[in-house]
Amino acid sequence: MEKRPFAELGLSPEILKAVDKMGFEEASPIQTAVIPHGMAGKDVVGQSATGSGKTAAFAIPAIEKVDVKLRKVQVLVLCPTRELAVQVSEEFGKLAFFKKGLMEVPIYGGQSYERQFRALDAGAQVVIGTPGRVMDHMARGSLKLDALKVVILDEADRMLDMGFRDDIEHILKSVPEQRQCLFFSATMPRAIQDLIKHYTRDPVWIRIEAHAQNAPQVEQIYFEVDRRSKIELLTRLIDLHDFRFGIIFCSTKIMVDELDEHLHARGYSVDRLHGDITQATRTRVMDKFRRRGFEFLIATDVAARGLDVDDLEVVFNFDLPNDAEDYTHRIGRTGRAGKKGMAFTFVAGRELYKLQNMIHYGRLKIRRERVPSMDEVEEAKGNVFFEKLRATLEEKKFRSHDQMFDRLIEQGYTSTDIASALIHILQGQNAEPAKAVPAKASKPKAERIAANEPPPPTAPVPPRDAGITTAPFLVKPAATPAAPGGPAPGPAAARRDAGPPPTGDKFAAQKRGGFERKPRTGREPGFTTIVFNVGRQHLVTPADLVGKIAGVTRLPANVVGAIDIHEEHTNVDVATEHAAAIVAKLAGIRVKSQSLKLAMVPPGA
Ligand code: ADP
Ligand code: MG
Repeated sequence: MEKRPFAELGLSPEILKAVDKMGFEEASPIQTAVIPHGMAGKDVVGQSATGSGKTAAFAIPAIEKVDVKLRKVQVLVLCPTRELAVQVSEEFGKLAFFKKGLMEVPIYGGQSYERQFRALDAGAQVVIGTPGRVMDHMARGSLKLDALKVVILDEADRMLDMGFRDDIEHILKSVPEQRQCLFFSATMPRAIQDLIKHYTRDPVWIRIEAHAQNAPQVEQIYFEVDRRSKIELLTRLIDLHDFRFGIIFCSTKIMVDELDEHLHARGYSVDRLHGDITQATRTRVMDKFRRRGFEFLIATDVAARGLDVDDLEVVFNFDLPNDAEDYTHRIGRTGRAGKKGMAFTFVAGRELYKLQNMIHYGRLKIRRERVPSMDEVEEAKGNVFFEKLRATLEEKKFRSHDQMFDRLIEQGYTSTDIASALIHILQGQNAEPAKAVPAKASKPKAERIAANEPPPPTAPVPPRDAGITTAPFLVKPAATPAAPGGPAPGPAAARRDAGPPPTGDKFAAQKRGGFERKPRTGREPGFTTIVFNVGRQHLVTPADLVGKIAGVTRLPANVVGAIDIHEEHTNVDVATEHAAAIVAKLAGIRVKSQSLKLAMVPPGA
């Protein structure tokens, strides 16, 4: 939940000086949320944890409402105990320090009436009291509430627990109709809600989650994205920020399964949790995640509830949560322990209205960002390489190769030539220029980077123009990916063809081979055909198969050659040296709900 400087809350100079003197640097979340409504004269129901600064949240607007020239009670605060009454009174005193002429008085049982009479007689404008003693003074005529502007219930739930309900109702019935009511409670049991219904008018409800409150460091962003492009956006964001530890929230079990399958196939280190998974497995997955045995947990809200991990780098709302409360719960798992966390929310189509409602009523602070383009992802990865190079140079973490260098210089090469050649070699080895040796890149990560080159979701994408790693989501439903004839010309296709240099991108060629080549019969040398028991009728795409092969075997995607999809089966050419391993590893794996059966076509068949 957001915090703001007091100076932005529309307060008087006297209050600003006072909070400064008290050493408050900025308004707490409950103060940020409550004060503007309090100032505007609205009734407020506030709920937040102990120690979150509720006292100042109601005291500040109350003080601002007091007319010091009027020597009558204008603010009444009801508290459950004398200790609290004294404490709250002291806080009023401090906050009103520079507001000359404001007088506050605590009234509670056990203290002599004399003192309290005197203070009330002297024209105190703010009375802070326990319900019993307040009733007494009202009955005696020493406390008159005809000029009351604001009534505040602090710790309302505790007051009810202590049996003050009748007293409270009596007091609330005796105060002027036209008054503001601020209602604070740590919990909201039925009885409290009844009171609120009876004695407030159109109140603003403010609830500050303990989690969010301790996690001020979460950068929250939402993206408007086509439903089919969500996976693409997800992987882009992961790659762009180089995230290693996060939760991806989905709204259904089916979506969890589907996403798990897709991310797995793309080489991401993921696992999943939802209600249909056995308790034993759930426990195992959670343990593993806590130990960082994998990078991303895909889960439903319910399944993630028992997970006590809160130092995530990122939370993805792959699907929109139900309400602001769930949202806050979800993102509260990141940005802890002083580290900055990120929360990304995807909205598709009409969900945007739902999100805007959540932002409005839940007072969420989420800003919109545009979907990062593939170029930006590439650039970010390039920067990783650049930074790594620079760090290596700066820290001198390398052996000197003076001799080799001198020999090359002697032969007339410049140092720029030599460095460029080295980078070129690195690119060649990594199938990915620029980001050659990402610092932490595990093997699957390197593969997934290499295999990531579909058109940006926002671009006008011709249906057939689906890259090898493009999730079926990106393909319009009517598309037949293996259709002959190549892609319709379009900006995305043009960009891809103009893509990285040939040394780096073995996959670009492979992709075209996989997608756009006409079905062919002859095998290329060095390739063996494997027959898969899935075909067009299963709605399988080349992306599914290449993704599966790369994901399961961890082999680079370029071991796959031509893919020829038939009605009931598909012929996939793979590098002969890996054919047996692929058959062995993929047998029984699910693709499009089919359990895979594979058969190698003998050479010469
Ligand atoms: P609550 O009523 O929610 O239990 P309090 O109003 O008693 O919390 O505040 C808890 C403590 O935090 C008090 O010592 C108070 O002075 C201090 N405090 C309140 N607001 C701020 C702020 N904006 N910055 C720093 N300290 C604050
Ligand atoms: Mg309090």
